[in-house]
This record gives sequence, structure tokens and C-alpha cells, in this order.
Amino acid sequence: MHILLVRFSSMGDVVLQTATINWLRALLGPEAKFTFVTAQEFVSLLDTHPEVNHVIGFDRRKGEKWKDLVKKIDDLDNKEPIDLILDLHATLRSFRLKLTYWNIPALTVDKRRWERFLLTKIKSVKLKRLFNSKFFGLETQVERILKDFEGVFGDTRAKRRTVDFRKGPHQELTSLSELPVYPIPGEYVVLAPSASFLYKRWPVESFVELAKKLLEETPYHYVILAGPDDKFCEVFKEIQSDRLHNLQGKTSLKQSMSVLAHAKLCIGNDSGMNHIAEAYGVPCLTLFGPTDPKFGFAPHGSNSRFISKEMFCKPCSTTGKTPCYRDKLYCMLDISVDEVRTNALEMMK
Ligand code: SF4
Repeated sequence: MHILLVRFSSMGDVVLQTATINWLRALLGPEAKFTFVTAQEFVSLLDTHPEVNHVIGFDRRKGEKWKDLVKKIDDLDNKEPIDLILDLHATLRSFRLKLTYWNIPALTVDKRRWERFLLTKIKSVKLKRLFNSKFFGLETQVERILKDFEGVFGDTRAKRRTVDFRKGPHQELTSLSELPVYPIPGEYVVLAPSASFLYKRWPVESFVELAKKLLEETPYHYVILAGPDDKFCEVFKEIQSDRLHNLQGKTSLKQSMSVLAHAKLCIGNDSGMNHIAEAYGVPCLTLFGPTDPKFGFAPHGSNSRFISKEMFCKPCSTTGKTPCYRDKLYCMLDISVDEVRTNALEMMK
């Protein structure tokens, strides 16, 4: 069986879908083929994953057109006919793909959109709790997806249902030796202060304060990981320490994955970096702002933790994209440096 899995974005969601692939592999055996369709910038998350046979990237940033994507899929379909489309995104774009290949059976994930939307509309903490107890546990999004698909595939015995990059060769990437600091001279903690949307970021000043305290109180090195556009990370230069390594904008996605794979701990927002770290079995401390861990993106590792403040306005959007409508970003500002520091120190023990 050849399955085409579709999830264009975002980084964290693509990482989480490796659980679906691992589960399908356990269920369908080594003969099954899996092709993943995603945005070009996320191809390197999966192109060396041992259970993924092909990755097809859609490079809209470089002007690739829909017909280019269809051609790539057609070429593959001609060589290895596709039997099933698993739409893990459930957006207009993935709908268009299913429509293009109307003759191939398709299954679409239920993203609990209505439940999530309704949760953003309830403005009472008590009612939110009641709503959550009815519709959301602390089940991960992946567990929900697999529960839905279990019924279709008719087999619940397959065990490998975790997000896991550890079997992949990412950790041996030679490009790691091209990093500005390589090897990082000692055990290190990753600080990941970025996120896909501005409102999902714990203030960078708080990260700076946290780094200063942890540098004083622990013997570890601290590595800042963020993308090329995250110039706000320049503020870390006020810390004069040879144990702080600011790699913002200096690593490719693959190199960032390698750095995360070897970390002792990752502290970051509800973002892709934390999901990647967890996929390597690295404990994560995740800070939630306008999104809610109940949406299914809380860290799942037994040594991971999250901090999320209950308040009437939270969650205010399903993705964290919507601008804050209050005078301050209370959901993030209420998370104190000391609370993060205490949790981090406990997790480092
Ligand atoms: S403070 Fe409330 S309204 Fe503002 S971003 Fe956070 S959750 Fe949304």
C-alpha cells in the first residue's frame, strides 16, 4: 500500500505527524510506502526519516505553482501508484489536492476545529474548565488523530505511536561540524525564544534574565536557537559569558535538529523547536501563552513539563495568530522568570 500523507505546515505539526507514520509502519509492515507532502522549508524534517519513503516539497516561497506540485505527485504516482491520501491538514489547500486526485480514496483528520473555536469564545474560567472536561483531556493531538484512524484501519494493536526521531540519522549530520561553536564544550541547555507568531513568545527580556540566572546557578552551557528572521535575539549579546552561544540565524534546520538532539533540556514556547527536541527524547519545558495545552500540543515526554496560566481570555485564538486584545500580554507576562527557573533547575537534576 502506498499512502500519501499531506501536512503543509507548520513545523511542530509536521514533526508530530511522525507518530502517525510510525504507527502506520507498525500496522502495515515494511512493504507499505509512505510519501509525505509538505512545504519545502520542512522537507529536511523528514527526508532522512527511516520510515518515510519519499518527501515532496511545495516551494511557494520560490514561486512554485500548484501545477508543479501536481506534476511531482503525478510522476511518483506513475512509478508507485498511490492507494490512499491521508489529509492531516484539513485546509483548503489539502482539499484542493484531494479534489485533484478525486479518484484516490482519501481520509481527512478531524482537527476538533469547532471545539477549539468554541473554547476561544467562552470567557469564564469555570465554564472553560467544564468545557474542557467534556471535550478535551490532556490527550495529545496525535493520540486523537490515531484514535480516529484506528476505527478505519480496524487494528489497534500497532504499538509504535510515538513521535520519535531517535532512529533517524539526523544526529550524525556532518554539517554539525560547520557550526560556529562545535563541539559545544560541555553539557548544554537550549533556549528557544521564538515561535511562529509574535503573541506565542514569552518576552525575550525574560529569556535573557533566565539565562543570566541559570548561568550563575549551573555549570552548563546555554545555546540560543532561532531562525534567521528572529533578530530580536540580538539582546542576548548583553550577556558576557563564554558559556552562552547565540546561534540565532546561524544554523540550518537540520543543524538545529542536531543541536536539539544532544541537549540536556530545551526551554521554549509552544513551537516547533520544542516538538523537535521531544522527538529526540529531550525533556522540554514549554511555555504556553494565548494557546491552550488542551488543544493537544502539550509536551508528552515523561520528563517534560509545561507552564500555562488560566485566565478568562485564554485561549484567544486557535493558533496564537490573533493579536492580543488586552492592554498587555498577560498570558505570557504572568509566567515569571523565577517560575521557569525553578522548573528548569528541577528538570536538570
Ligand atoms: S492576554 Fe489574553 S487576549 Fe492577550 S494574547 Fe494572551 S490570551 Fe490572548
